[in-house]
Amino acid sequence: MKIAICSSEVVPFAKTGGLADVSGALPLALKKLGHEVIIIMPKYKQVVDSGFKLKKIGPDILVSDEIGVKTYFIEHEQFFNRSCLYGEKTGDYPDNLDRFSHYSRRALELLKEINFKADVIHCHDWQSALVIIYLKNLYNKNNFYAKMKTLFTIHNIGYQGLFPKEEFPKLGLDWSLFNMETLEFYDKVNLLKGGIVFSDAINTVSVKYSKEIQTKEFGFGMEGILNKRKDALFGIINGLDYSIWSPETDKYIFKKFSLEKIEDKYSNKEGLQKLCGLPVKKGVPLFGMVSRLAAQKGLDIFAEGIEEFCKLGVQLVILGTGDIKYHMILEDIVKKYPKVISLNLKFDDSLAHKIYAGSDIFLMPSHYEPCGLGQMISMAYGTVPLVFKTGGLADTVDEKVGFVFSKYTKTELLDTIKKALAVYKKGVPWQKLITNDMQADFSWEESAQKYVKLYQKLSGK
Ligand code: ADP
Repeated sequence: MKIAICSSEVVPFAKTGGLADVSGALPLALKKLGHEVIIIMPKYKQVVDSGFKLKKIGPDILVSDEIGVKTYFIEHEQFFNRSCLYGEKTGDYPDNLDRFSHYSRRALELLKEINFKADVIHCHDWQSALVIIYLKNLYNKNNFYAKMKTLFTIHNIGYQGLFPKEEFPKLGLDWSLFNMETLEFYDKVNLLKGGIVFSDAINTVSVKYSKEIQTKEFGFGMEGILNKRKDALFGIINGLDYSIWSPETDKYIFKKFSLEKIEDKYSNKEGLQKLCGLPVKKGVPLFGMVSRLAAQKGLDIFAEGIEEFCKLGVQLVILGTGDIKYHMILEDIVKKYPKVISLNLKFDDSLAHKIYAGSDIFLMPSHYEPCGLGQMISMAYGTVPLVFKTGGLADTVDEKVGFVFSKYTKTELLDTIKKALAVYKKGVPWQKLITNDMQADFSWEESAQKYVKLYQKLSGK
């Protein structure tokens, strides 16, 4: 089958979160299963900075073979040559509708220019939802596009691509599409909603989350429209790319290790403590957190309990950026407990690897989590995850591999941390957890096969 993946971020070219990990790994897994796959993404400044060789094949199109799957880049100096992908500290870029509608139209046109008659166009999140909307309302009248099917993957329903109604004419679509059944959401343009309505099938990145988003609590207003499309809604858990996330081959960590040489994990703990200016002590339980700093990621309840946490005889390395509110709360607490918390308010791939490898416990108390990669990555490095029972976290973590709490409160979180510390001190059961974690297998193969089945169902091939 011929599959075109449209995603706004792809590892190793540009990344702000899990979407990029998935968009980089799934195409490779599909190719391994014998399918013809291409990727189409914007050419951001990050792509240029990543140093990969790009070949110009058209006035605004570049291509790279670097990852083993042909990746096409849409160039637009004014729209994409910026320091960030979607926005800066002050907020989202105000012209995001122009930026991603341009990307989406060019992606569709590119398919014709390179004569790639895709069986399925697989789009991800609101940034590429317009590919689906344009295909179904404009391009499919052209023979070249008429048979193409679409799959829309929702990686996080909390981000919907909402724009003022006044911007609708810029899309070049008929005003009749601006109504409650299609693109309108409380008098605004909602691109994610358009993706849900016009795609041939929808999926999200864990089975549990696919059910949760049909409820008021987790649907962010999309529960009604998703309910209507529930027969076309699926859940497929993300895999993990072990060629990037493995303690045996990781080039960023202090010392490579495996289950057989688990004692070398402690060189990583020592290295991380030193690097982060924390006292180098083998016996002190070291927590790691690599996360967007947002309430979704559990920062709200963690912030409430952080002072108590600091008094538990622990250490914590935090890496992340996000809401200014949490930057400030964390900066204040670090001033008070500099020997307990190391705070790193940045995006830093190399440090992320070191945290996954060097920590004892990975803290991921997300309030909701479509899939979550952090818990899977930490397991690969024998770092025991502590999570809230939701979405993909509930689907991947149980008491055999980590600690799970099921009431979203500060007290439950702290009690579960204390429970984990008690097990840590006992030694032997902790080693068992590490073993189970490192033996867990989240490789892409099975999930990629599920995607192929879905593509087949859509295309009839
Ligand atoms: P998200 O909701 O942010 O996509 P995921 O758990 O699905 O959450 O994926 C997050 C990905 O981004 C992981 O690969 C994680 O290691 C990475 N990540 C998150 N924050 C940072 C950061 N500040 N620096 C480096 N990597 C980060």
